[in-house]
Amino acid sequence: MTPEQIDTLAWDKQAGLLPAIVQDADNRRVLMLGYMDREALAVTLATGRVSFHSRSRQRLWTKGETSGDWLQLVSLEADCDNDTLLVQALPAGPTCHLGRVSCFADAPADFLAQLDALVAQRERERPNGSYTTRLFDGGVRGVAQKVGEEGVEVALAAVAQDDAALCGEAADLVFHLLVLLRARGLALSDAVAVLRDRHAIDRASGVAR
Ligand code: AMP
Ligand code: ZN
Ligand code: ZN
Ligand code: ZN
Repeated sequence: MTPEQIDTLAWDKQAGLLPAIVQDADNRRVLMLGYMDREALAVTLATGRVSFHSRSRQRLWTKGETSGDWLQLVSLEADCDNDTLLVQALPAGPTCHLGRVSCFADAPADFLAQLDALVAQRERERPNGSYTTRLFDGGVRGVAQKVGEEGVEVALAAVAQDDAALCGEAADLVFHLLVLLRARGLALSDAVAVLRDRHAIDRASGVAR
């Protein structure tokens, strides 16, 4: 956000405060709502740590200043009439002071992104008795073979016109694909980025594929 953009924000609408919705940049879960004044926005942009104006304490409040659970800024944008901010951030820990991930207890997140994060955690921690741990212990070749088999099972279920089996095999394929990407040090988002690029190219050239 440029200094010119900051000046176009509707600071005068609500006593110099703008509501700022914070979303997890990885899985899009809404984490919290806070209020930013000019100072909080400047500190957020300068430090990369999401900061607010605390209305109860009447001072600058950098989220995580006592808990260590910072919100690392990824992006920030204003809404259509410049009176609300949308902040994408990566939380270092639970965002809610009650120890919850989000202040909204049941705020939905993108499920595939959540599952990918769980797969990454399994890869790091290798808990005993976990099927995912066993897959990682088997190495890239083993997981690659599994992805090949699941691909064939998807194809067979589709040809057999068995929709329940098709959904089950498609789920198997997606799960093992997450594990395979991770075993190669990649995330689902790396593959999705390729799809997004193609989408942008197609739209730019006006070609619908
Ligand atoms: P922290 O910024 O995480 O170090 O927390 C400092 C204090 O800010 C807490 O003791 C709470 O009073 C308040 N607080 C922390 N997180 C939130 C939140 N998500 N929403 C509202 N207040 C919060
Ligand atoms: Zn608005
Ligand atoms: Zn909370
Ligand atoms: Zn299968």
